[in-house]
Amino acid sequence: MTRGALDEPDLLLNKAYVAGRWIAGDGAPIAVDDPFTLAQFGEIPDVGATGTQAAIDAAEAAFPEWARRPVKERCAILRRWSELILRHKEDLARIITRENGKALKEARAEVDYGNGFIEFYAEYSAHDLGEIIPAPVPGRRLLVEKEPVGVCVAITPWNFPLAMLTRKVGPALAAGCTMVAKPAELTPLTALAFAKLGEEAGVPKGVFSVVTGHSKAIGGAMTASEVVRKLSFTGSTPVGAMLAEACAPTIKRLSLELGGNAPLLVFDDADLDTAIETAMIAKFRNAGQSCVAANRIYVQKGIEDRFLKALAAKIGAMKAGDGLDEANDVGPLIDERAIKKVDEHREDALSHGGELLAGGASPGGRLAQPTLVGHVAPDALLTREETFGPLAGVIGFATVEDGVRLANDTPFGLAAYLCSEDPKTIARVGRDLESGIVGINTGLISTPTAPFGGVKMSGLGREGSHHGLAEYQNLKYLCHAGI
Ligand code: ADP
Repeated sequence: MTRGALDEPDLLLNKAYVAGRWIAGDGAPIAVDDPFTLAQFGEIPDVGATGTQAAIDAAEAAFPEWARRPVKERCAILRRWSELILRHKEDLARIITRENGKALKEARAEVDYGNGFIEFYAEYSAHDLGEIIPAPVPGRRLLVEKEPVGVCVAITPWNFPLAMLTRKVGPALAAGCTMVAKPAELTPLTALAFAKLGEEAGVPKGVFSVVTGHSKAIGGAMTASEVVRKLSFTGSTPVGAMLAEACAPTIKRLSLELGGNAPLLVFDDADLDTAIETAMIAKFRNAGQSCVAANRIYVQKGIEDRFLKALAAKIGAMKAGDGLDEANDVGPLIDERAIKKVDEHREDALSHGGELLAGGASPGGRLAQPTLVGHVAPDALLTREETFGPLAGVIGFATVEDGVRLANDTPFGLAAYLCSEDPKTIARVGRDLESGIVGINTGLISTPTAPFGGVKMSGLGREGSHHGLAEYQNLKYLCHAGI
């Protein structure tokens, strides 16, 4: 049997989905590689600015009718889409693992998590209400209606090829917007399979398109367009800043979910088992390739030795290898650069007083060993840059104030975690952390029903929950007089 063969081979596509048609590009196709075998796994067309413009035109044409449809009808289509995603869960998971590398169990979890956004907005959106504001003078009625923003574009990263897309598509389509999405060049095949299921679910032509190819030309066409009213981007802070600048002349609405550099604070009064479980999930989910990954683990002196010993045992038991092999916890990383970064951060941590307590050098190919370095100095590279790999660096601290100061010493503020059993410490630290999300005694924070997003240079806006729907709505205030 072919490696990772699909039950439904038609879900593996080599065309882009533009205006309800599957199209090839003008230029040379772009190869999609399997990060474990390093061999080509699929290919995508480069639709360029022309294909992107065609998708935007189709989204513009489809918008008035889609926006006018009763929200219940839009939700019914999303519900069918969600059913199809779950029906094809195993195939979608295989595609995710083959193009992204992540362990199959994590890919399955991503399908469930990603589907959660389609499901949530299919259920929630029909119950979303407008407002009537008490009139300031007699004879008036003040209404607030919610309108779809219009044609939206999405640019998504490679680390969660399905979920980073569904958290944009779900609320956009439910709100009555139309959307053109550009997945990462490294992982476009999941997005195309998702589009194919959308077509089958009855998403009308032009309401949702997936354009593939080189990011500059596609991003340029998206940001320059006067028709496009909103950009939702998940990716690095420099690219986010550049896109925001490109959107400024046309005053597009923006949602930016950018870099993280999350801290985890473990206080002396933490429950050890809870702290270890929190660290394992917060650090190693998706092999550490997540913007909410605990990048800096700060542990108070009184619990440090016990914490390091228990964490070393857990990390030492993890298996890295082929993501398709059910036995493995960690698949290959996305590319050469990712391995180099992990190696660089490990060596730098070791040269900053660090002690290797589990794992070690990368064994070759795109694999990185789950690794623990203890007693790292607070100025090591891994405290400043996102490692985006399975390397945990632990830094000791003395007082609660020291811990909070170290945690906040970053221009980023997406997620932060703390472990403590003392309600006062939890309340104080929870209040003082400069972060959009705080995990308290848990590393598992993301869910479609809660608002996900950052402060400081981690971004703008929220995804998930009713706040995520509001990102795709304009408020219209209607002032009735003489009634
Ligand atoms: P990462 O570090 O996760 O690769 P990037 O910000 O480079 O983060 O990429 C996230 C997404 O942004 C990907 O879909 C990528 O193709 C896209 N991207 C990168 N550069 C540009 C650009 N200049 N214009 C538009 N999209 C871009």
